[in-house]
Amino acid sequence: SVIRCDVLVIGAGAAGLMCAMTAGRRGRLVQVIDHANKVGKKILMSGGGRCNFTNTGTTAANFLSANPHFCKSALARYTPWHFIEMVERHGIAYHEKELGQLFCDISSKQIVKMLVDECQAAGVHIRTDCGVQKVERGADGFHVHTAQGHFHAASLVVATGGLSIPSMGATGFGYELARQFGHEVLPTRAGLVPLTLSGKHQERFNDLSGVALPITARCNEVEFRNSMLITHRGISGPAILQISSFWQPGDELRLDLLPGQDALEWLRRMKAERGAAELRTVLSEVLPRRLALRLCEHWLPDRLVRQIDEPQLRQAAELLQNFPLVASGTEGYRTAEVTLGGVDTRKVSSSTFESQLVPGLHFIGEVLDVTGWLGGYNFQWAWACGHAAGSVA
Ligand code: FAD
Repeated sequence: SVIRCDVLVIGAGAAGLMCAMTAGRRGRLVQVIDHANKVGKKILMSGGGRCNFTNTGTTAANFLSANPHFCKSALARYTPWHFIEMVERHGIAYHEKELGQLFCDISSKQIVKMLVDECQAAGVHIRTDCGVQKVERGADGFHVHTAQGHFHAASLVVATGGLSIPSMGATGFGYELARQFGHEVLPTRAGLVPLTLSGKHQERFNDLSGVALPITARCNEVEFRNSMLITHRGISGPAILQISSFWQPGDELRLDLLPGQDALEWLRRMKAERGAAELRTVLSEVLPRRLALRLCEHWLPDRLVRQIDEPQLRQAAELLQNFPLVASGTEGYRTAEVTLGGVDTRKVSSSTFESQLVPGLHFIGEVLDVTGWLGGYNFQWAWACGHAAGSVA
């Protein structure tokens, strides 16, 4: 027997659930199917279990895409304040961590429960453990063959996300479906991901695992000031995750280890005031000690500050302010928070998210070539396009 609905959403993640509740409230008969054994797994694991569900400062400038204007319309029509209104209506306590990032006080489970409750109130049917075998389009709409039977729908919404964290159910399904219907998929790669080091940088840093410090990371004319964490495999922390989305193998990566300070001015002052101290000693007062020692072992003059002449001071300042770090790669999809690239937006409507090639077919969320920075922007994008598609599908 055929299960009939108006709107079939594939993917019960952030974008899919938002789309489903919005369409359901309009009186549409909505089915959501997901191959995973529960809904919203990425929401559950997000933000260290507290879900950074939006960013109050969200603008189009916080997203990467081959088509930078594409995200504007949906973001303007469904803002962080719309989502916050729903969070407050459900009595979910939240706080701002930094830079406009809003997190649940208690648990990301509350966000999933809110989305599921809203779907239920809107009459949406959700099925898990429902893998898709085949999608076909006939004159009467879409026929979707699944592990739980044959669905027929006038509108099909693809909300299957990106490739990051395959162990959480991520697949390339959305990209394959897009290609099946004639859409182009721009090359994908891991974003918001730790970087790995090789060669001498790997050797010189690997036993500093656990060292954290504030930095400014720069790459391809973009920079992020936040913290960095040295790990046993390479480097991580918010500043590195952010810059990783702008970095590709071979690109130069520079770190300012004394962000917000003038390193040369500071070194000259140390020479004037603390000439009898070792450089490693004064450096340990402004950097984690293990890192300061390592820098003096390999890169900086390991002697009394008064013995360092002006040209060497300049060199040292340059090194501290513009440290050239050689990354060998990323940790890949296994640990990446997002996938860059995806379904080319140039054949998708930015207001309805409907395919310009196949009427009734919609793509929303991370499956599209729109990727946010770290800090709640990716969920805001999922909510905004879920809402836009759900308003018309
Ligand atoms: P998803 O939420 O990934 O949903 C896709 C759904 O489709 C999944 O339920 C999946 O099971 C299902 N699916 C996939 N393939 C198939 C198939 N073949 N058949 C049926 N169903 C399928 N962003 C933030 O804004 N803030 C954060 O705090 C944050 N933290 C994160 C932490 C981690 C560890 C990770 C990995 C990501 C984090 N993100 C965060 C990014 C955010 O989770 C994603 O950008 C967002 O979930 C994308 O929403 P989506 O609905 O497009 O895809």
